Amino acid sequence: MVVDFGNGAIGPLQRYVDLLEIDAVLLSHLHADHCVDLYSYSIARAFSPAGQQPPIPVYGPAGTAQRIGLIHGIAGDEELTKRFTFETLEPGRMIIGPLEVHLAHVNHPVETFGFRFTHSGRTIAYTGDTGLTEAVPGLAAGADVFLSEAAFLEGPDLPPDMHLTAREAAVYANRADAGRLILTHLRPWNDPDIARQEASSAFGGILDIATAGQVIDLGNALALDAGTGRAGNDSPDA
Ligand SMILES: [Zn+2]
Ligand SMILES: [Zn+2]
Repeated sequence: MVVDFGNGAIGPLQRYVDLLEIDAVLLSHLHADHCVDLYSYSIARAFSPAGQQPPIPVYGPAGTAQRIGLIHGIAGDEELTKRFTFETLEPGRMIIGPLEVHLAHVNHPVETFGFRFTHSGRTIAYTGDTGLTEAVPGLAAGADVFLSEAAFLEGPDLPPDMHLTAREAAVYANRADAGRLILTHLRPWNDPDIARQEASSAFGGILDIATAGQVIDLGNALALDAGTGRAGNDSPDA
């Protein structure tokens, strides 16, 4: 399953999985940076040399099929429903393949979900995009890994109900007693070292900044990352 499918995702994704082996897609919300590559992916399913592929489920907020169709053109794309079955998300609990998924609305200008995935007793929580909301520490409670957006650094005049700062994400991680906090969605002009500093003032667990290609072994989430050998925290006492 792919969770969120923003611009630029489909290229590097092919380093890790055969595109036709993807069996489900889950979208947190319909902002372009979280969904537009789903249209490119639909082309792969329709025109692969292996032939038209059977539809797979796409779970997303209300309006997902229309939103993805508009990427094709203003008239939409009726062919999309041959490539995907669209399932509208609702807050609560659902099963996707082997995963138990708890989902809740978070605080963003469009309908957006945060997720808590559990499998074999291990849990990873993901915020989607969100401003401050009590839904986040709820989803992250006791999670082995808490993948949080941290688009903002601390500063004056931050727009409300949009994104978290790295420190706010860390406060939630601390309250949730998450084992490991991974910050993602940093804006490209933010210094990741400052994001790390601001977060480390509020969270004493393992802390790192998401990197392209990072692999987290949930069975061993508090140890070194598979593949990279990176520890989750640069500090020697991590
Ligand atoms: Zn967004
Ligand atoms: Zn975003």
